[in-house]
Amino acid sequence: MPTARQGSIRLFRFSGIDVFLHWSWFLVAAYEIQTRKGTYSSVTWNVLEYLALFLIVMVHEFGHALACRQVGGRANQIVLWPLGGVAYVDPPQRPGATLWSIAAGPLVNVVLMPILFLAVMIGRSWGWPQTMPDLYQLVRAIFYINLGLLIFNILPIYPLDGGQILRSLLWFVLGRARSLMVATILGLIGIVGFIGLAMWRQDVWLGAIALFMLMSCWGGLKHALALSRFAKLPRREGFACPTCKSAPPVGEYWKCGQCGQPFDTFQTAAVCPRCRAQFAQTKCIDCGASHSMNEWMASSLTFSNV
Ligand SMILES: [Zn+2]
Ligand SMILES: [Zn+2]
Ligand SMILES: [Zn+2]
Repeated sequence: MPTARQGSIRLFRFSGIDVFLHWSWFLVAAYEIQTRKGTYSSVTWNVLEYLALFLIVMVHEFGHALACRQVGGRANQIVLWPLGGVAYVDPPQRPGATLWSIAAGPLVNVVLMPILFLAVMIGRSWGWPQTMPDLYQLVRAIFYINLGLLIFNILPIYPLDGGQILRSLLWFVLGRARSLMVATILGLIGIVGFIGLAMWRQDVWLGAIALFMLMSCWGGLKHALALSRFAKLPRREGFACPTCKSAPPVGEYWKCGQCGQPFDTFQTAAVCPRCRAQFAQTKCIDCGASHSMNEWMASSLTFSNV
């Protein structure tokens, strides 16, 4: 069951996805609305503009979460921060499934583009700039917010969506570990550029975003190193994952769900050596899919016959 994120309040639940709002969002909202006062005739419009930003970020995150579920992954939480939203997605560890889960976010903004553009055009032809300047200004601002978010998100700098899309594409050719390594190294170069830009412009927000990206990218690089170490482990013959076709590593990489004992489940035919618990399903360490021992063996036979 999803638990409430620390410092966040649960707003609602839609299609099994809990949406949380971090408390600091209110602080930043108050600050942003206050500083942008004067662009409209009343502050109500500034509030509406900020709510529109919030809505666009939220539908973007729903794009990620729903696409991830569509390909059989797990996604049940969205947390909205002042710096943006995070959809906690766990797609199946395959390049195609990961690519779709990531690309669906920016695609939401792509779909919104012509709709918002049309709204601006209609407003203009109906004479809103003269008759309803506030409304016209709001619609225009929403168009540019969506455009700005789209451009920022598709920059090929890991962990931005663009960087993760690049990683998924590289995955097809370089494999899981090396694709992540290349994308995170390119990401670090891009982030250094962001930090430089933030310092040059003395932009605290950009600096905060760059720092957040740096931590996430560094985590990604460490994960890539762990994945490549894992890929070099000796593999057991006679078994293959029906989903990803990889043979399981030799070693005590499985943990007994009953007593906690680590053991090599392919050596003991899915029986815990300590408490004798028998497991019907064995999880693939490479892709996360679960299959019975018979399926693991059958897949190895068909695989080696091909
Ligand atoms: Zn995204
Ligand atoms: Zn697998
Ligand atoms: Zn056990």
